[in-house]
Amino acid sequence: MMKSSNLGYPRIGEDREWKKALEAFWAGKLGEEELRQQLQDLRLNHLRKQLAKGIDVIPVNDFSYYDHMLDTAAMFGIVPKRFPYEGGVVPLSVYYGIARGTKDAAASEMTKWFNTNYHYIVPELDGAVPVLTENKPLSAYREAKEKLGIEGKPVIVGPLTFLKLSKGYSQADSDAWLSRLLPLYVQILQELANEGVEWVQIDEPILTQKLSVADVNRLKNIYETFAASVPTLNIMLQTYFESVEQYTEIIGLPVKGIGLDFVHGRSGNLSSIQALGFPENKVLGAGIIDGRGIWKSSLREKLGLLEELAGFVNPERILVQSSCSLLHVPVSVAYETKLSTELKDALAFADEKLDEIVLLTKAACRNLNAIPEEFQENERAYLTFKFSKNRKRDDIQQAVATIADQQLERKLPFSERYAAQQQKWQLPIFPTTTIGSFPQSAEVRKARQLWRKNEWSQEQYDDFIRKQIDIWVQVQEEIGLDVLVHGEFERTDMVEFFGEKLEGFAFTQNGWVQSYGSRCVKPPIIYGDVAFLKEMTVEETKYAQSLTGRPVKGMLTGPITIMNWSFVREDIPREQIAYQLAYALRQEVEALERAGIGMIQVDEPAVREGLPLKEADQAEYLSWAVKAFRMATCTVQDTTQIHTHMCYCEFHDMIHSIEAMDADVISIETSRSHGELIHSFEVNTYTKGIGLGVYDIHSPRIPGVGEMTSMIERALHVLDPKLFWINPDCGLKTRGMKETVESLRNMVEATQIARSNH
Ligand code: GLN
Ligand code: ZN
Repeated sequence: MMKSSNLGYPRIGEDREWKKALEAFWAGKLGEEELRQQLQDLRLNHLRKQLAKGIDVIPVNDFSYYDHMLDTAAMFGIVPKRFPYEGGVVPLSVYYGIARGTKDAAASEMTKWFNTNYHYIVPELDGAVPVLTENKPLSAYREAKEKLGIEGKPVIVGPLTFLKLSKGYSQADSDAWLSRLLPLYVQILQELANEGVEWVQIDEPILTQKLSVADVNRLKNIYETFAASVPTLNIMLQTYFESVEQYTEIIGLPVKGIGLDFVHGRSGNLSSIQALGFPENKVLGAGIIDGRGIWKSSLREKLGLLEELAGFVNPERILVQSSCSLLHVPVSVAYETKLSTELKDALAFADEKLDEIVLLTKAACRNLNAIPEEFQENERAYLTFKFSKNRKRDDIQQAVATIADQQLERKLPFSERYAAQQQKWQLPIFPTTTIGSFPQSAEVRKARQLWRKNEWSQEQYDDFIRKQIDIWVQVQEEIGLDVLVHGEFERTDMVEFFGEKLEGFAFTQNGWVQSYGSRCVKPPIIYGDVAFLKEMTVEETKYAQSLTGRPVKGMLTGPITIMNWSFVREDIPREQIAYQLAYALRQEVEALERAGIGMIQVDEPAVREGLPLKEADQAEYLSWAVKAFRMATCTVQDTTQIHTHMCYCEFHDMIHSIEAMDADVISIETSRSHGELIHSFEVNTYTKGIGLGVYDIHSPRIPGVGEMTSMIERALHVLDPKLFWINPDCGLKTRGMKETVESLRNMVEATQIARSNH
């Protein structure tokens, strides 16, 4: 009989209880004991739910106080030297210090978890002497067993993935590091085996990447060591997000089970199985329900896939599971009361996906030839949505097709138009600016609520927003910034704001997913063709510009970011969705320009998030992503300065694509990676305007003038001073007013010092 399994459940709770608890704790409003209690309640709830739904193999230790990579590092006592830590279980204050920074020490770097919108804390190995400070998977297993009688499956980040995603060591030291970590993993596994644990899920998503010969040898070494040291424990070597690269080597490893993604890695994994078979003595974790998308599956199709797999693997040895952890989808569709029935019926979030897994497992077990009755409702909803007329706009499809064939180029090449822009604006050397948003204070959020609930009229709300703009334009002038922004007070979120004003989008009330730490996002759903309806940002930008003689940058979110931060339809290629968005944004760019706005920033922080994991697919993605950006921005006059902004991740391997976007100025995050980006400009030239973020806005810490001056000096070793801008790492909406003003004052002071040195 097939069994059902899950790889991980969302941490955040049905009502984001997790976020609220964490933030209350950080604000000093919740004690440590209460925090632990609340998080345990939540964790147990999640387990109860999975049990009630009938999932056979339930994951434990998928829960976290912040992030699972940070948990793994903390479990091994890997704490950067700048934090006060003397061994033993890492105290919560240190744990959160690493994640968020403290007043004395900068946070660890945060970066994307593969190609998702989840960000993990990058472990810093340098100087660490790893020891096992606590066996977290064991505690999680015991808790589930004692409290709920669940025979849980502990989930652990695998050694190879952990090592490869960490920093602070040289490649030459990989084996030395592995030999330090392996005994700790063995100890964890032995303790689990002694406790009677049946299955352990060891996550090695890194196996979807092409490994070097040395890494394949490391992989063999790791799993042979485990097999020799804990022969009784069943290890499910779990991969996800793509097909595995080295199938033969991987299925040859001495583990009891192999988990493969048959959604995002479907064609690769399926053809490997078809061509090379699957070992008879192993269990196949068949990831066939999409753990990342929000759409209902056609159970009929999925059953077909399962049957196909059963042709290669004895059904007794198949686990029906999600393609990856459900961390990446919202909790439940049940809370949505405002979506159209057609759309709501087409959705499946974590809870509904568990239902799909269970239904499918049952149907597969009965070995039916006909479509089972319980699939009929699924099939009806699936097909109704698939062929819905509400999703199609022929005029848009035609317009986009026409533009996509045109030359998407600015009239003048960069150097000539930059000179024209400089002529027009007369900015000083090293112009200063910010990334767009200013603090979304309690007052701002309150105002928006009142307006949303119709307790405030549109006029009242607009007045309020204008007052915020008044205040902040004045603040920016006083601080001495050169290029101002209006502050984005009218926006909740950089994607939702635009989605609400465009056709083709839908919004959930409760579709939250974790982005990093306690930060959750509620991605819109792009369900149909996207169309521009009316001006979206002109009013506020024009107003801000009317208050000052300095340039005010218009502020838009780019097509690729809107797409990558939304849940998107799957019936047309992503490339087409990007072009539709670009076409809509182009109309907004043109409207801003007509309104007299001469600098327009089109943010693309999420370009890298859509980068396919497989190298072979990357160039194609980048080429249409660049094309979409140009489509949105290329029609402006020479003197209109196009800015863009990127953050959150590594860009060193994308610099040529970034350059091809042809923005006049890019502001880019630097400080969170402790200046690593600067290094990449030593080997790559970038020949357009560029502002490197000189301080980390994710931390409440106020950066000193000295540290920013040295960041600026470092950057000026590799970048052309004439093209250099100075700005923070990202928008300031999560910061308080006082710290924002002080930080920006220091930034301007650092700029003045840099100016006088050049
Ligand atoms: N303009 C946006 C802001 O300042 C950019 C945010 C981002 O890059 N994530 O908030
Ligand atoms: Zn940013």
